[in-house]
Amino acid sequence: MARGPAGYRARMLVERMRPFTSTIFAEMSALAVRTGAINLGQGFPDTDGPPSLLADAAANIQSGVNQYPPGPGIPELRAAVAEHQRRFYGLDVDPDAVLVTTGATEAIAAAVLALCGPGDEVVTFQPYYDSYAATIALSGATLRPVPLRPQYGSDGQAAPDFAFDPDELRAAFSPRTRVVLVNTPHNPTGTVLDREQLTLIGELAAEYDAVVVTDEVYEHMVFDSGRHVPMATLPGMAERTLTISSAGKTFSVTGWKVGWVHGPGELVSAVRAAKQFLTYVSGAPFQPAIAAALGLPDTFYSGLAEELQGKRDLLSDGLRAAGFTVFRSAGTYFVVTDVTPLGFGDGAELCWSLPERIGVAAVPVSVFCSDPDLGRTLVRFAFCKRAEVLTEAVSRLGALRG
Ligand SMILES: *Cc1c(COP(=O)(O)O)cnc(C)c1O
Repeated sequence: MARGPAGYRARMLVERMRPFTSTIFAEMSALAVRTGAINLGQGFPDTDGPPSLLADAAANIQSGVNQYPPGPGIPELRAAVAEHQRRFYGLDVDPDAVLVTTGATEAIAAAVLALCGPGDEVVTFQPYYDSYAATIALSGATLRPVPLRPQYGSDGQAAPDFAFDPDELRAAFSPRTRVVLVNTPHNPTGTVLDREQLTLIGELAAEYDAVVVTDEVYEHMVFDSGRHVPMATLPGMAERTLTISSAGKTFSVTGWKVGWVHGPGELVSAVRAAKQFLTYVSGAPFQPAIAAALGLPDTFYSGLAEELQGKRDLLSDGLRAAGFTVFRSAGTYFVVTDVTPLGFGDGAELCWSLPERIGVAAVPVSVFCSDPDLGRTLVRFAFCKRAEVLTEAVSRLGALRG
């Protein structure tokens, strides 16, 4: 048996958490720092959010908004979330059915821990956001991943994208299915699920009496005049859906960790029961600032999507010119590529050598998969960076061909 601190720690960790000891994001970011590489691995913006939001939060700290806020969140933020859902999606949300959480991450964890235990199953698409598998493992439930598979256009013209096979989705459901965890717009693939796909997911959830938990943190980052469709807007779905979002992505404040969840009263109460013993509350000075920011004019929201779309194009074009197969990113901070045309068979291998070789860091899609073969040749790049940073990254990527 291994000796020393590492071996000791490995023995201490409960078995269900052992597959989740390190995150590739921290490792890749460390490698990027060590090599001076441009970090297109981790998805955080390199500019700050709206100045009014930053000033409000700073003023709140200065004026003493620093103690425990109410358990469910401050009334102004819960009302602002309800109003945001009405304004953008026509959803009728009772502010009392909004729960403020420590980022979307805690909302997801509290929902899964509240609703699932050993013997229960959670259906989700893979690749998936990395907290999903770890959270499901913590709950003792079983993950039932459904692949989002690359779809290569038949005309050879349109950029390829990702989709699930309806039969594979159907086959993942069983009487043990408690939760369907859906992320749209989807990290890492940039897939935006359409009404037809969401309808099928909803029908299956209803058939098996499962709760749909939707992670919509990229709701305002949809491109090419596409639309984000919240699951809760589909007929009959509001009564079995927990809708989750967060200020982190929308307002470029990923370090603030203020999110929220809303849904039917009894489901939100269940989530609250778990949430209160995870963190109790958080983000007192941030909550009123975010409440005000949610009321920013439409131009803020449309400007955000437009600006990111330009960055998506800049990076996608550069990756294509560098020889990658580039998938269409319809939303989020991310674009996925296939490294096969560059002569590589393994995205992870390329990612470990990329910072040293050309000074750019990215993450392999295989780390978002329980079936590593699914993302073997795929690599994710983040484009939520300043244009000059992306331009420099593109110029470095050009060296891969040479
Ligand atoms: C960034 C991200 C989150 C985490 O949101 P926080 O509010 O920072 O906790 C959740 N889900 C997805 C898909 C993300 O990309």
